[in-house]
Amino acid sequence: MQVGIIGAGLAGSILYKLLSEHGFYIDIYDHVLVRGCKSMGLIFSNKNEILAVKKVFKILNIDIQDYVLKEIGEVNISGDAYFPNKKIYIINKSKLIEDLVPRTIVTNREFNPVIRRYTTKVIDTGIIVREFCTEAETKFYDLVVDASGNTKVLQLGNVHTKYKNDIRTCQFLIACDQNSSEKFDKFFIDEIKIHKGKPLIGYTWIAPIGDGLYHVGCAYYRNGHELWEYLKRYVKRMFDSDYKRVCGCSSRINGNLISESFVGGVYERRCVASVGESMGLTTPLGHGNVYAIISAYILSKSISKYELDEAVLKYKDYMLKKFEKLDKDKKAVKSFNLLRITRLFKEYYNIPTHESMKIMLKSLY
Ligand SMILES: Cc1cc2nc3c(=O)[nH]c(=O)nc-3n(C[C@H](O)[C@H](O)[C@H](O)COP(=O)(O)OP(=O)(O)OC[C@H]3O[C@@H](n4cnc5c(N)ncnc54)[C@H](O)[C@@H]3O)c2cc1C
Repeated sequence: MQVGIIGAGLAGSILYKLLSEHGFYIDIYDHVLVRGCKSMGLIFSNKNEILAVKKVFKILNIDIQDYVLKEIGEVNISGDAYFPNKKIYIINKSKLIEDLVPRTIVTNREFNPVIRRYTTKVIDTGIIVREFCTEAETKFYDLVVDASGNTKVLQLGNVHTKYKNDIRTCQFLIACDQNSSEKFDKFFIDEIKIHKGKPLIGYTWIAPIGDGLYHVGCAYYRNGHELWEYLKRYVKRMFDSDYKRVCGCSSRINGNLISESFVGGVYERRCVASVGESMGLTTPLGHGNVYAIISAYILSKSISKYELDEAVLKYKDYMLKKFEKLDKDKKAVKSFNLLRITRLFKEYYNIPTHESMKIMLKSLY
């Protein structure tokens, strides 16, 4: 079987490794070979997720401890300390990805085979369907996988609909001296904002990654320039000018619902599927690393168990059911459903309900 994976991020790399074990011929594409540090948190929302990720790592002969930079015990949210009952690791994600798929294996190119390749039409029954038109570039592959993260190369729509729910982010890696290091030796979440009608919650964070280094960033529904200016001011205020900026970059996080995204299908005998963030596998807080790993595993398992056509269709059905809760949570944020959002804060960071209420009222734009 020949497979084309678009994107050598976390989901694409895990999938590459898992499918390689079956002896498939695989091309993996990425136009960016610099493995940046844009996201380093592995945040597990329940025990099943920990078990699933451990299982995947065991199959791949990887010890998660080799990549853990820090285990977070305390989270400071808007000035108050909380002690989550969940596992939160800060990991060296770029090293993990490089170990899974060294950049020498990756075909260095931007691969956009299917943008504009869908046609939307109304069939006899009145239902709107999307059709995938194959193309010379991909015809050699039995399976094409969208692992392009926020770029969502296989997703339907024009630029506006594709990105309308995405939140913008901007982040710095900073180094600072010993005194500040002690003060910030926990995970900080600050300036929480819930944006009316939007599925993701905005906030600013400081994540300690050891050796006096901090990953500082923010995610809001604002324009890029405003974010940079805001983050510069924030870092200055928090670290008292006592730091050195090592690097910085900006990005987006996919806030689209899974049920409105392209998950998988068979078109003209070509199988197509999405994994990770490209299909909207993010929580309302923008976390997607755990789901990138789990989705790649589920797809590989389905492929090893069934004929390819059936595998992709089963994968699609299964994913829509399994991750239904993520969609519900995002819809709850969009409609400012107080009850569900407080439950969410409790689930992730163990924030008591009355405290969550305060945070939420403060957070509304
Ligand atoms: C600033 C920031 C902080 C975050 N923090 C956290 C966190 O703490 N915890 C957490 O769980 N999640 C976090 N996330 C989300 C998390 O990073 C993603 O959900 C996760 O990386 C998704 O993995 P992925 O493999 O699906 O996509 P990605 O990791 O984004 O990988 C996609 C890859 O595809 C490549 N690509 C894109 N388009 C093309 C193309 N046309 N052709 C070829 N290659 C292409 C990209 O270069 C990239 O390497 C954060 C995201 C951001 C932006």
